[in-house]
Amino acid sequence: MLDIARDFLLANGQLDVERIREDFPILHQEVNGKPFVYFDNAATTQKPIQVIEALTHYYLTDNSNIHRGIHTLAERATAAFEATRDKVKSFLNAAEREEIIFTRGTTESINLVAATWGNQYIEAGDEIVVSAMEHHSNMVPWHMLAQRKKAKVKIIPMNDAGELLLDNLENIITSKTKLVACVHVSNALGTINPIASLINAAKKVGAVTLIDGAQAVSHLDIDVQSLGADFYVFSGHKLYGPTGVGVLYGKRSLLEAMPPYQGGGEMISEVTYEGCTYNELPYKFEAGTPNIADVVALGSAIEYVLTIGKKNIRQHETILLDYATKKALEVPGLQCIGTAADKVGVLSFVFSDVHPQDIGILLDKSGIAIRTGHHCTQPLMGRLGIPGTSRMSFAVYNTIEEIDLAIEALYKALRLLR
Ligand code: PMP
Repeated sequence: MLDIARDFLLANGQLDVERIREDFPILHQEVNGKPFVYFDNAATTQKPIQVIEALTHYYLTDNSNIHRGIHTLAERATAAFEATRDKVKSFLNAAEREEIIFTRGTTESINLVAATWGNQYIEAGDEIVVSAMEHHSNMVPWHMLAQRKKAKVKIIPMNDAGELLLDNLENIITSKTKLVACVHVSNALGTINPIASLINAAKKVGAVTLIDGAQAVSHLDIDVQSLGADFYVFSGHKLYGPTGVGVLYGKRSLLEAMPPYQGGGEMISEVTYEGCTYNELPYKFEAGTPNIADVVALGSAIEYVLTIGKKNIRQHETILLDYATKKALEVPGLQCIGTAADKVGVLSFVFSDVHPQDIGILLDKSGIAIRTGHHCTQPLMGRLGIPGTSRMSFAVYNTIEEIDLAIEALYKALRLLR
């Protein structure tokens, strides 16, 4: 069905981006009469034809409900669905396939942990530690939990470059801390956080850790066992996969001790008029018919990324980021937001005299898609004293030529706006 085992590298060891771009039909169009440039990859990545074909193949040939059916298509659909669980297990280097729970995405994975583990274990006076640069998805569920339980949310501060400050960590992660929840890679700044150090600090006080990997999985190798993370979450759509599917990794001992999230089909062992017992992992947390097709297609996305190789993707995106940063800093009045030493391909910037939204609108007129605003990180924007930024975020299929087009369009926009 799929034809992904191809050579994606040029003789010089760099990615053959033109070859990769052939796999992304959506890139080959004009927008507002201009060649389409997609720099909104931190919001969602485009999908390669292999992922789109996996989706259509599933609906054309295998569609059935899974697990309970005894007919051939039900078995095929179940096998394809469960095969993705195995792929995610090795993608994250989880110890067991039962530790991989399919959800709707990062947001649902975090809400699941807050509603189950959080409700069970957080008590009045407990502290939940998050970083200064969390996405609302890794902030609001903890605020809600803290409000319900009269617990407290504490913040790990950062410097102006967007790097977490760990020197005072023992006064933030203390014996009162029950959970440390931190973003692996910041969507607004691109910072790669020192999550191994945070996890170790949490372990010292017996706190549980949750890592928001939404922006990390497409750029970095993830090894949940060597990190020692208790929970690790991500969304398929930021990994060249479909929307509507994501993953919660949790350590078996924790998942087993947690109550179920939703009640319904599949998550039960036995139901009587009087009550019920729950299914074993991972099904205890997968109530109802799951998003079978998208889980299957997520498996293809993972294969796609692994075939190219994260190291190659990272190397390419670093070339793009370095070039774009250099070009951006030549633009009069431009200030980069997020200048951490360790970053992925995210370039956020502001001007003191021009609103990010105006830049976004004018770049769109030049066929260039960027994101503007607070990037669902309002507390972070408050910390930085800005309402929002313009953000270009890069992916494996982006090119230096596209950056030149974007910078050219930026100069043009500024001529109109100033
Ligand atoms: N965390 C981070 C760091 C993100 O970038 C995002 C998406 N922008 C989310 C969480 C939420 O992901 P989703 O909307 O796919 O649930």
